[in-house]
Amino acid sequence: MKIIMIGAPGTGKGTYASRLEKILGTPHISTGELCREEAAKGTELGKKIKEIMDRGGFQSDEIIMEMIKKRLKKEDCKNGFIFDGFPRTLKQAQELEKITTIDHVINLVVPDWILIKRLSLRISCKNCGEIYNLVYLKPKKEGICDKCGKKLIQRKDETSEGIKMRLKEYEKKTKPLIEYYKNKSILINISNNKIETPPKVVVDKILEILGVKK
Ligand SMILES: [Zn+2]
Repeated sequence: MKIIMIGAPGTGKGTYASRLEKILGTPHISTGELCREEAAKGTELGKKIKEIMDRGGFQSDEIIMEMIKKRLKKEDCKNGFIFDGFPRTLKQAQELEKITTIDHVINLVVPDWILIKRLSLRISCKNCGEIYNLVYLKPKKEGICDKCGKKLIQRKDETSEGIKMRLKEYEKKTKPLIEYYKNKSILINISNNKIETPPKVVVDKILEILGVKK
């Protein structure tokens, strides 16, 4: 199954995508992670990516498409994939259509107040990208990443003003994307209006709609 997860920052798409990866057996492909991997390699492309990452900016469509094309050639994608954070723009969606088909687009709809609350409590690892939450998803050792042992930080753009700006930018960029997939009749809206909903409940809802038996 070829799946795209769409959702604003804080909707939990990364968390759901990694759970779906285990259940469906298809790789969870996060552009954020691809960017970090490339940056760590220190290639020409990696250096460019790192500079944009350090500023907290968005990577260009060209850079993203280059990495996605490379990733899709790997053996583990032959039965499908779950995209997380991609495509982010209409241009990327159109480019993607030239290289593969998509079965389902899952759009996570969560009210802004929940996103603001979640993101303002979010801390992440600058080294491996793992995400934690000061209330709902604490690391085992305070301030230290469970996965790699490095220090956890709060992103500069995850203060309340920064978050509002990110959500606005997200909406502006993603609206045409949502329309695009809606017109293709492959868009599935999944709403969640409660902050305390456990990930399992949302994942089960997605599986039910996809018609997957666990
Ligand atoms: Zn880490």
